[in-house]
Amino acid sequence: MTDDPVPAPALTIRQQLMHLLAGAKHSSRGLAALIGAPERQIEEHLAHVVRSLARDKTRRFLLEPSYCHDCGFAFRERTRLTTPSRCPACRSEAIAPPRFGIERHVPKQ
Ligand SMILES: [Zn+2]
Repeated sequence: MTDDPVPAPALTIRQQLMHLLAGAKHSSRGLAALIGAPERQIEEHLAHVVRSLARDKTRRFLLEPSYCHDCGFAFRERTRLTTPSRCPACRSEAIAPPRFGIERHVPKQ
C-alpha cells in the first residue's frame, strides 16, 4: 500500500552506486556494466561516495583489496580504487580488481 502514486525519479549514478554497494560487493567494472556507464565515470563517482561515507556514522565504505591471481599477494595497503597493473611480489599482471561495498555500521553504545 502506498500513498505516493508518482513514479520515483530516475536515480542518479551515485544513488545507484550506493544502492548496489549496500547489497553486495562489486568491482568498478561490474558496477559499470550494471549501471551502464563507463568504468572511468564509475571510479569518479566512487571517490565521491568514499568521501561522503567518511562523514557518515551509520555506514562504512568497504574496500576488498586487489590480489594477484598467480601468487595470492593482496594489495592491503592500497587505498586507490583502480586496479594495480603489476604484482610487486612476482611481477604478474594477472591482478584481480578491488571490490567495493557499503556496510551498515551500528555505533557501539
Ligand atoms: Zn604475484
